[in-house]
Amino acid sequence: MATAIVTGASQGIGECIVKRLAKDGYNVAINCYPSEGDRKNAEAVKAQCEEFGVEAEIFEADVSKYDACEEMVKKVKERFGSIDVLVNNAGITKDGLMVRMSEEQYDAVIAVNQKSVFNMTKFVGAVMMRQRSGAIVNLASVAGLYGNPGQINYSASKAAIIGMTKTSAKELGSRGIRVNAVAPGFIKTPMTDALTEEQRNAMLSVIAMRRYGTVDEIAGVVSFLVSDDASYVTGQTIEISGGLSM
Ligand code: NAP
Repeated sequence: MATAIVTGASQGIGECIVKRLAKDGYNVAINCYPSEGDRKNAEAVKAQCEEFGVEAEIFEADVSKYDACEEMVKKVKERFGSIDVLVNNAGITKDGLMVRMSEEQYDAVIAVNQKSVFNMTKFVGAVMMRQRSGAIVNLASVAGLYGNPGQINYSASKAAIIGMTKTSAKELGSRGIRVNAVAPGFIKTPMTDALTEEQRNAMLSVIAMRRYGTVDEIAGVVSFLVSDDASYVTGQTIEISGGLSM
């Protein structure tokens, strides 16, 4: 049975993606940040994945750390025998206007959102190169495509991911490995629930479909991109924003 690893999969979009891949029939490696709360959430996600009749295992690692990623990928390979799908989902925000943003705020977001993609793609890519097959999906954002005030760090990291997607697609394509990205717009999460009605209406007015997206609508596109139905799609960034940019 094929194996998928999803980073930051103990909640939110990552949780939904890992459950969708379990439903699709993958054994799943559930990465979570090493903390008690994340571990507890990940245990619940693991149980839900197992209900689909697949094997699931939790791998705690801070994916911004190079050595931790190397060790985790080694353990996943040992546990499951192959790594067929990688979803680089883990991400954080530390928003603030550029003139007020601290160096720490900037560096933290780049480390978690951007460096993690290098770490994981390098180590999983090596496994996939030996297998001569694999599919990778990176979580970018509309902020990386169009920019967003208050998110110089976040938009930099997400724009970088789009470039990294293209470069890794070019480096790995001849070995049968595809690399794509998705760029979600406004997705219904506790973050967007916290907005005022005025802020919500302002955002909705620029979305052609006049509604937020759901986590399932992200997971569905990821499921397609890693499937054989997308076997000639690589290096692409698919915007999932309900028509934000037209
Ligand atoms: P979320 O609910 O905050 O989930 C992100 C997950 O990543 C959390 O479980 C988080 O753990 C984990 N994580 C953070 N740093 C990590 C690290 N160093 N190592 C391992 N795991 C780490 O966010 P989300 O909304 O589901 O977002 C998922 C991805 O989609 C992110 O890349 C985000 O940028 C992208 N995205 C989201 C939206 C949206 O509207 N929600 C839009 C565009 C793009 P902790 O809780 O411990 O931090």
